[in-house]
Amino acid sequence: MNPQLPSHEPPSHEPEPWYRSGLAFQCTGCSNCCSGPETGFVWVDEQEIQAIANVMGYQNDLDGFERKFVRNVGARKSLVEYSDGDCIFLDPDSRKCSVYDARPKQCRTWPFWKANLHSPQTWAQTAKNCPGCNRGKIYSLEQITRIVNQDANADANAS
Ligand code: SF4
Repeated sequence: MNPQLPSHEPPSHEPEPWYRSGLAFQCTGCSNCCSGPETGFVWVDEQEIQAIANVMGYQNDLDGFERKFVRNVGARKSLVEYSDGDCIFLDPDSRKCSVYDARPKQCRTWPFWKANLHSPQTWAQTAKNCPGCNRGKIYSLEQITRIVNQDANADANAS
């Protein structure tokens, strides 16, 4: 016997991810993800650089903006950090993002990054540094998948 699958239901080869029931996340505004002491990279592409430059009043001086706020890392570009590892756009007094509405995709998609979602263990590790994980709003599998794909595109597009 070789049963036929109904033609409108193609077989799925993708195993369901461990977070198929969704995950909770609600930012507490603690700023851990934007601050040191660890250093890191906030990758930006040309569109994101332009958007932040506009917010910062550098819309007519993109070169000046990049000299001050962007660094080249190989073929890619990342935002500058303070020497203590804080993002250059993390306001030292309020501890809030000073370009929040124009923040890059990498920031918008946190904490739903592929590496963080790899396993329950990597998610638990992420939650140790991000108290917004596992609290508040529930994101469905579909919503998480959409966010993960945005981050993947951001990664692919970053120059
Ligand atoms: S570490 Fe998490 S809870 Fe804290 S500011 Fe970043 S996203 Fe929000």
